[in-house]
Amino acid sequence: MTHYTGLIERYRNRLPVGPDTPIISLGEGNTPLIELRNLPKKLGKDVRILVKFEGLNPTGSFKDRGMTMAVTKAVEAGSKAIICASTGNTSAAAAAYASRAGIASFVLIPEGKIALGKLSQAMMHGSVVIQINGNFDDGMRLVREVAESAPVTIVNSVNPFRLQGQKTASFEIIEELGDAPDYHALPVGNAGNITAHWIGYSESVCQNTRSCVHCEGKCPYHKEIAATKRPKMLGYQAAGSAPFSRLAFVDDPETVATAIRIGHPVSWKQAWQVKEESGGWFDECTDSEILKVQKLLAQSEGIFCEPASATSLAGVLMDLERGKIEEGSTIVCTLTGHGLKDPDTAIAQSTRPVTVDATRSSIEKIILENLAK
Ligand SMILES: *Cc1c(COP(=O)(O)O)cnc(C)c1O
Repeated sequence: MTHYTGLIERYRNRLPVGPDTPIISLGEGNTPLIELRNLPKKLGKDVRILVKFEGLNPTGSFKDRGMTMAVTKAVEAGSKAIICASTGNTSAAAAAYASRAGIASFVLIPEGKIALGKLSQAMMHGSVVIQINGNFDDGMRLVREVAESAPVTIVNSVNPFRLQGQKTASFEIIEELGDAPDYHALPVGNAGNITAHWIGYSESVCQNTRSCVHCEGKCPYHKEIAATKRPKMLGYQAAGSAPFSRLAFVDDPETVATAIRIGHPVSWKQAWQVKEESGGWFDECTDSEILKVQKLLAQSEGIFCEPASATSLAGVLMDLERGKIEEGSTIVCTLTGHGLKDPDTAIAQSTRPVTVDATRSSIEKIILENLAK
């Protein structure tokens, strides 16, 4: 047993770092791949659904995978400050990794549209939090303009090192399953993560596909990676913020899933290519479907993800129902962030606590009442 020190050390030979790169890590990655036990039974479907719970990263979302790389490379290049636009989780990760590195961080967030947990993280880690009277897309544009002159490194997913870090989730999945799944579903906002996962899968199959069995490890990828195929990539968006399924940018995106409230995805072209190459598709789910599945997952499997994250599973359940995803398939759904990020939305859709006198009989009464339901 060796001490796990984060994904850069773990996948060092497959990431753009050298022996002298100063690695900034909080032990990110190595997240659990949890097989759903109760939901498929409940639905009467013969499928294997596994969720990659990225909410268990150090700051509670997959953004840590990209941030460890982006901040490591920024520090290596001598940068003293980072900047990002964020729907929340990127700012939380940027703030934490900047603290770890001892550099400054500036985060632009849409006013009033970021979940409470995420805001508290950026503030607590000492980031300079700048609320703008605009949405994520406005913030992204401003960050790009400012970085042209100010001494700050952008750590949004336009930073190519972000995707390099995020691709490692696919490596972990292949290692755990012994191969790639048939389908991999993700919630899509800026579309960096779906692009990163595809990079990870693509780097994991033998490039000499036809002679794979006989290449005797001569293929550079063959030695360490076991994937024989790549999955169909499924990207799901919230209906009020669904440029991919509507085939047009959305100027005023709106959804309860604030992490994917993005109408002008930066990685549009790359993500579109992922869909084409993988034989997958994009689709959308309504806010009420997303919240229903968030709750279903919490109450039938014990897994609490944030609303945006539930979009991957909501989409998969919809497409299983429609028969677009065949029974017998192995499906991985990325749960991008932890439910504690957005306590307001969780509380709003849950049963209120009951208040009673502090007596034995009043507690017993409630137990019996509830068990009788
Ligand atoms: C950032 C984020 C997304 C969207 O990822 P993209 O790479 O922007 O497509 C989805 N869910 C959560 C929780 C996020 O923080």
